[in-house]
Amino acid sequence: MWNPCISCGACCAHFRASFYWSEADAAAGGITPSHLTTKLTPHHAVMSGTEKQPPRCVALHGEIGKNVRCVIHALRPSPCREFQASWVDGVHNERCDRARAAHGLPPLSPPGDTR
Ligand code: SF4
Ligand code: SF4
Repeated sequence: MWNPCISCGACCAHFRASFYWSEADAAAGGITPSHLTTKLTPHHAVMSGTEKQPPRCVALHGEIGKNVRCVIHALRPSPCREFQASWVDGVHNERCDRARAAHGLPPLSPPGDTR
């Protein structure tokens, strides 16, 4: 399947990835490694690094726009799982465009668009 994210990673270094604290594995049933998270509020945590300016998640390895991977892909929190690259499922994601633009990358085009 087409996966533009493996040569991008822009959203992991643009948005704050925050989530309810119980998604981290310090809580029963949580899966996201707690040592890679930072407390944001009494009830919310963030992926460490995404709360900084400029943001960059500590779980993102590689060079943005070239070759990247999330080292906790299967354990990533809900905001990451819910964030879809533009057009991968046929839906435009303006936030994907915005993150890419912030890193000097063009917006993704719908499959078959030869512009
Ligand atoms: S946990 Fe993975 S998908 Fe989520 S912001 Fe970090 S690197 Fe990106
Ligand atoms: S900005 Fe879009 S294409 Fe880039 S990694 Fe995030 S979802 Fe994927």
